[in-house]
Amino acid sequence: MRILLVEDDELLGDGARAGLSQEGYTVDWLKDGLSAEQALRTEKFDIVVLDLGLPRLPGLELLKRIRSRSIDVPVLILTARETIEDRVKGLDCGADDYLTKPFDLDELSARVRALLRRVGGARGEPQLTYANIILDPASHAVEMDKEPVNLSRREFALLQKLLEHPGRVLSREVLTQCLYGWEEDVDSNALEVHIHNLRKKLGGGKFIRTIRGIGYMVEKQ
Ligand code: CA
Repeated sequence: MRILLVEDDELLGDGARAGLSQEGYTVDWLKDGLSAEQALRTEKFDIVVLDLGLPRLPGLELLKRIRSRSIDVPVLILTARETIEDRVKGLDCGADDYLTKPFDLDELSARVRALLRRVGGARGEPQLTYANIILDPASHAVEMDKEPVNLSRREFALLQKLLEHPGRVLSREVLTQCLYGWEEDVDSNALEVHIHNLRKKLGGGKFIRTIRGIGYMVEKQ
């Protein structure tokens, strides 16, 4: 799950990023509205956590712009403004939920989780099946031979990405980005380690093929 965090306050942004990363989300953090708008036009995110008071482009304006372009990513707004009018305005502009500052990190994580569940359920994201494996994006669950498989969030993200594109080689860059976003320092072996663990948990996982020097793929069934 990839989150775009848009927050210009260093301290708050840093805390939110740390808290959400710890939950296993991939967090990309941008500090102004215009960069966020550009990112949303070109990249895919599962959810946006959006501050309203932002330099270069205010949060509400950003929200209006992306909704007018039919970018329907779920948006959780962070607002220091406590008036009902402001909240209503945010929701009218296309926000899905809001959180009033100051908030606690556990509450932020819980809201993000709830929103992802709600949206996933509403969109009816289809289950992905591959041989004896079923991956359910809405409930974030994986089963093999009808038994639950316990995957870390990063392993889950990786498996989901691979199963969404059977028959296609996914480059190391694409897979690494789906794991970490842009800003985190990535250990060059991290992808291999996650693939290794994923295979181990999925009975050897021979269906995940290594394409030497390029990346990984699962064969078309
Ligand atoms: Ca702000």
